[in-house]
Parts: sequence; structure tokens; C-alpha cells
Amino acid sequence: MENNSAQEHVHVLIIGSGPAGYTAAIYAARANLKPVLYQGIQPGGQLTITTEVENYPGYPEGIQGPEMMVDFEKQASRMGADIRYGIATAVDFSAQPYKVTIDEEKVITADAIIIATGASAKWLGLPSEQRLNGSGVSACAVCDGFFFRGKEAAIVGAGDTAAEEALYLSKICSNVHMLVRRHEMRASKVMQDRVLKTSNIMVYWNTETLEVVGENKVEGVRIQNNQTQEEKVVPINAFFVAIGHQPNSDIFKGQLEMDEQGYIKTIPGSSRTSVEGVFACGDVQDKIYRQAVTAAGSGCMAALDAERYLSAKGH
Ligand code: NDP
Repeated sequence: MENNSAQEHVHVLIIGSGPAGYTAAIYAARANLKPVLYQGIQPGGQLTITTEVENYPGYPEGIQGPEMMVDFEKQASRMGADIRYGIATAVDFSAQPYKVTIDEEKVITADAIIIATGASAKWLGLPSEQRLNGSGVSACAVCDGFFFRGKEAAIVGAGDTAAEEALYLSKICSNVHMLVRRHEMRASKVMQDRVLKTSNIMVYWNTETLEVVGENKVEGVRIQNNQTQEEKVVPINAFFVAIGHQPNSDIFKGQLEMDEQGYIKTIPGSSRTSVEGVFACGDVQDKIYRQAVTAAGSGCMAALDAERYLSAKGH
């Protein structure tokens, strides 16, 4: 039962409810750490805005992303995790016990904290992109490329993610139209070389996306060359956005060490952050793999690290 008093002390507090947070909750509950998990702004995380997940082991027929996250939540609840609605709005890790403010009013102190707040894909912000999201518009080629086998795909972006995803799509789709807004790519040289040497990836330089065309499914993309102002529609079936992710780490700024993009730094091979007793898992600390299964694995690591930390402290 939720304690509604202004201040509450919990043993293990988990912030976030994607695969990392729920897996941490399952392991922590089974270790009798009585975890309390706050689900955050998007209960279930990024998987709740995808469709079918076919690459999570254990689901031979695939599963819908939202359904999978309901299963994760049920499993964590059944193990005894206390799962609550609420958003962590501020933290204070300057002294133990650490404080976390929920919904700007309730303050919780905790012996150990597991951060699993994830990351959010950046979008171009076009109305057509939003309207066709899930109907051919996606921010994850590894998740959704398979559904466009033998079809035409476009990808916007020019960083390592876009290059990696364009290469991934080139093995599945007939052609990949890569839309780069400048005259050069930001991606590492080796990735650029691979992209440029792949015969079915067409790079469009100095190109802006104006609109994703299609009523109920993606049928084309209207682009403009920002040098010549020439506009055209390229017929496509899928539109991938790979312009970066934003780790959901704003409330931890100044409290935990992060890299220049705001990803929380963890000690390699562990989930330990720069603050003792605070652990991070999932996409908020991973800009490379970003898969449900890797997030779940790191959630398990965080729970085991928290358990060891608490028993060493005699809690
Ligand atoms: P980045 O921020 O590196 O790149 C984002 C790309 O998207 C840039 O090319 C940028 O263009 C473009 N972009 C941004 N906004 C828009 C827009 N509105 N319209 C069109 N294009 C836009 O993000 P990544 O996700 O690629 O990479 C994040 C970090 O993760 C990097 O440090 C990267 O090296 C790392 N990474 C490493 C991998 C690996 O080592 N295997 C794999 C994936 C990522 P512009 O260049 O003009 O700003």
C-alpha cells in the first residue's frame, strides 16, 4: 500500500519502468529488498510506443511491446515489488540517506537507489511523422526494419546510429535513402566509408525532410535540397528517424557524473555510479546497445549490485 505521508523511508527505490527498471524490481523483490518502483512519465517506457517485438528471447511468436511491458510489470508485482504511479522530480544525493522527491511534493529517503529512467528518441517534429508513427515511421531500425523486407526505406540522420541503422537496413530493404542535412556526416570515418561503399544506400546530401507522405501508411518522403531549394518526393514504405537520443537524466545533473550528452557514467562491468549506493541501468547509461534485452540484463546487474552494497553496509 502506498504511504501518503509527506516523508517515507524505503530500502530500495527504483526510478523508471522500462525493461531495466522492472527487471531490477524482479531481482530486488526476490532478494527480499522490498523495492518500491516509481513508473515515471511513460509507464513501460519506450517499448510502449513500439508495435511488435520479435527479438526478445523467450517469445518465439513475437509480442506487442505494450503487452510485454504489462507482463514485466505483472511479474515484478507478483514477486512483491511495490509499483506506483509517480514521477521523480528532484533528487538529493549529497548526504545519506538519499532523498528523492516524487511529483514535486512527497519526499522519499532510500538506502539504495536504482535509476532506470531510460532515454527518448529525438524526432524531427513534423506532424506527418507523428501521424504515421507506428505505421511505417519508426525511430528504431533494429526493432522495425524486418517488417519492410524487400521494401524501400529512408533514414534521416548522419551520426553513428544513422550509419549503423542504414547498414542494418541495407541488408533487409531493397534500397535505403539516407537523408543528410549537411554536406558531410558526423559519423565516424569507418562507418561513413561502409555506408558510402554499400551499393543500395543512396546518400542525399544537404537534404531536409519536409513531410512524410501517406494517409494510413508511409508512401513517400518529400525532401528539399537546402542548396538548390529543389523539392521532390521519393517513394518509400518506411521512414526511420536516427537523429539521436536524449537520456532522461536532467534531474540527476550536478549529482552524478555524466558524459557530455547526459548519459550517466557507470563503472565498467557494473551499474555503480559516481555516488555510492546509487546504481544506473538501461538506456540512461547506455548509448550503444539500447535494446530491451540489454536493458533488462543491466537491470539485473543493478539489483545484484544494490543487494551486495546493502549487505556490505549491514542493511
Ligand atoms: P549524434 O548526435 O551523434 O548524431 C545525430 C545526427 O542526427 C547528426 O548527424 C545530426 O546532424 C542529425 N540530426 C540532428 N537533428 C536533425 C534534424 N532535425 N534533421 C536532420 N538531421 C538531424 O547521435 P547518434 O545517435 O548517432 O550517436 C550518439 C552517440 O552514440 C555518438 O557519440 C555516437 O558516436 C555514439 N554511437 C556509437 C556507436 C558505436 O560506436 N557503434 C553506435 C551508435 C552511436 P548534424 O551532423 O548536422 O548535426
